[in-house]
Amino acid sequence: MRPPRLLPDEEARLLALAEYGFEGAGDPSLDPIVALAARMFDVPMAVVNLIDREHVFLAAATGIATDLDPELARRDISFCAHAITHEEPLVVADATLDPRFHDNPLVTGDTQFRFYAGVPLISPGGHGLGAFCIIDTRARSGLSAPDLAQLQELAGLVLDKLELRRLETARRASQARFESIAQNSPDAVVCADAARKVTVWNRAAAQMFGMSEEEMLGQDVAAIVPEHIRTRLYEDLKRSAAGEPSEMVGKTTEFFAQRKDGTVFPTEFSLSVWMEDGAPSYGAIIRDISDRRRAEAELFRLAHHDALTSLPNRSVLVKRLSEATAAKRPASVIMVSLDDLGAVNDTLGKGVGDALVKLAAQRLTGSVRPFDTVARLSGHVFALMLHEVGDPLRAATAAEHAVNALMRPFSIDGHDVHVIASAGIAITPGHGEEVEETIANANLALAQAKAEGGGARRVFAPAMRQAAIARRQHDAEIRRAIDNRELVLHYQPQIRLQDGALVGAEALLRWQHPERGLLSPGAFLHAIEGGLLAATVGNWVLETACRQTARWRRQGASEDFRIGVNLFGAQFRADDLATDVEVVLAKSGLPPTALELEITETILIDDDDATIAPLVRLREQGVGVAFDDYGTGYASLSLLKRFPISRLKIDQSFVRTMCTSREDEAVIGAVLYLGKRFEIDVIAEGIETPHQAARLTRMGCTDGQGYLFGRPMTPETFAGRFFEAPLRSSQAG
Ligand code: C2E
Ligand code: MG
Ligand code: MG
Repeated sequence: MRPPRLLPDEEARLLALAEYGFEGAGDPSLDPIVALAARMFDVPMAVVNLIDREHVFLAAATGIATDLDPELARRDISFCAHAITHEEPLVVADATLDPRFHDNPLVTGDTQFRFYAGVPLISPGGHGLGAFCIIDTRARSGLSAPDLAQLQELAGLVLDKLELRRLETARRASQARFESIAQNSPDAVVCADAARKVTVWNRAAAQMFGMSEEEMLGQDVAAIVPEHIRTRLYEDLKRSAAGEPSEMVGKTTEFFAQRKDGTVFPTEFSLSVWMEDGAPSYGAIIRDISDRRRAEAELFRLAHHDALTSLPNRSVLVKRLSEATAAKRPASVIMVSLDDLGAVNDTLGKGVGDALVKLAAQRLTGSVRPFDTVARLSGHVFALMLHEVGDPLRAATAAEHAVNALMRPFSIDGHDVHVIASAGIAITPGHGEEVEETIANANLALAQAKAEGGGARRVFAPAMRQAAIARRQHDAEIRRAIDNRELVLHYQPQIRLQDGALVGAEALLRWQHPERGLLSPGAFLHAIEGGLLAATVGNWVLETACRQTARWRRQGASEDFRIGVNLFGAQFRADDLATDVEVVLAKSGLPPTALELEITETILIDDDDATIAPLVRLREQGVGVAFDDYGTGYASLSLLKRFPISRLKIDQSFVRTMCTSREDEAVIGAVLYLGKRFEIDVIAEGIETPHQAARLTRMGCTDGQGYLFGRPMTPETFAGRFFEAPLRSSQAG
């Protein structure tokens, strides 16, 4: 640990510090500033720290007690004592990595300092008094230039308050000392006698009001007091001189003052009255706070508003909801999400994404009443709070307007951008006693709406909470199944109908459940699909099937043998499916042409662009794309044109009844015809009888899969049956 450098002006510095009259107690006027800093920078601690000869003294602090343990208040371990040895702010990203601080008790002890940023507080005479700092118990990457500028601005506010205090302290001391201190104060100091004629007028006053000392000495103070305030001020001064309670004397008030040219500006006014030779005298310390007012307004806006859209942020929403709840006034919260903002960012760039968010913010603001609240909660989620609306129907109508507003195309940089939006609604009172509960319930309703897709809106219902709990339980169970290697793959053969030769297999998921035995997907697939682990399971299936197939090929399976793998919709939504597949192929050494991905119509219509792009990329490399359960959906024809499909799998429901239902046979005929016209291979699923096989062959179907040729079986059984030499398998992931 390195102790801070000693300062050459130490004795003068301590005298300067003494002028502020801190005698062991903090200064409450600084509290709002440290609180604002902690919120703005999202840190647990913010401190105004003054540095005495041996110890530091916390004039104001949040997140840490001002009566610091004397051991921790030692100057030689103080970060701020380092800060005042520099003119520039001191920023320590990670104290554990900094040779000056890594073994400092503030770092190694309970206080757990990691990140520190402190701006030195310099007196008007140029002495370092201490520092204004923010502290985090987690390391950070540093402080951006705009953040640093904000921290310095806040330090400026601290200095303003300190200066006021210094002058007040001086006024309480002798007149001579007062006048000398007053002369070089950055604040205007004005004194007047019983007749309100100016007796003291310092340099700062001359500058602030545009009138020199010569001009003003002996003149009426009315010159700087706007007319509409005069009576009230004079009456108050009179009362105070008579020893009666006063409205303004003895405290700091905000007041307007008037310049020589008649312009009026906001000031902070500290007024005092004393007796001199039996007559009252008046004194005022005046500070122009126009800049500070602006800075405060800006800081408030920054702390409470989203920078991109200028909309209020979550803290404002929480505050307004709390106010409504406390006043027992109804309100509706509508969470609105721009569901494909991520895709817009990926395909058109972050610039277009940002522009989209801004325009969306405008449309949402326009979709509600002027006094409703529109907040931005995260990248793609907004919240509308409708004041005094407790009727779910009215809220639903408002949600519909909001969603419709977002689903109209946006025109950005020459692009026509279309987005899907969803909305979830919760009402208070009713859908939550606490503010956070109402927000969480609106989020649950939003999740439900999103799951339904296509611009849905949903009002919260208690069942959603139960469903969320059930999903979490399912996820926990699936996680356990993965960890315990209870998930396994079975393989079903696919054969060439003409000669019965093996052409491939489909990998089918099974759960070897410790209590319920071997489960088929029907028993558990919905739990995976509705939870958070679908992509994880999907990737495991892909990897296991590819590894198994590569091994079979190395051990003698035919060059043309290919493996069919079913995909979950979540695999398209998570990261990057194309890359995932490429990595698995590379790792297993399986050629792309030996893999066929099976997708269903529900996946295809889920999210066009995000689905098509990875499939096109994989298809170009030779990976097969099979359209599973073909014929059962609605939009099958149009999908065929847009998606890079290499095979249609005729659904087993048609095969099952093809010999008894002319319609089903006709569907099969139509699919075979489509395959020919689009030059796409066709395979029939669910072939159970030789009759069905013969009929399909006659109709021109080349490949088949079904119990007739083999049920889904373990890899060992599969190898034993289809490959000459008994082969070892790899099952575990
Ligand atoms: P699918 O992809 O259409 O798979 C064919 C289903 O038909 C399999 O059911 C198979 O056992 C069954 N099947 C095959 N031949 C016959 C037959 O001759 N008669 C009858 N009645 N049924 C036959 P399974 O294994 O229960 O799988 C059901 C569905 O679960 C699959 O339908 C697929 O959509 C899904 N699935 C299975 N494994 C996975 C997987 O690893 N990932 C994903 N995403 N989905 C899977
Ligand atoms: Mg399938
Ligand atoms: Mg199928």
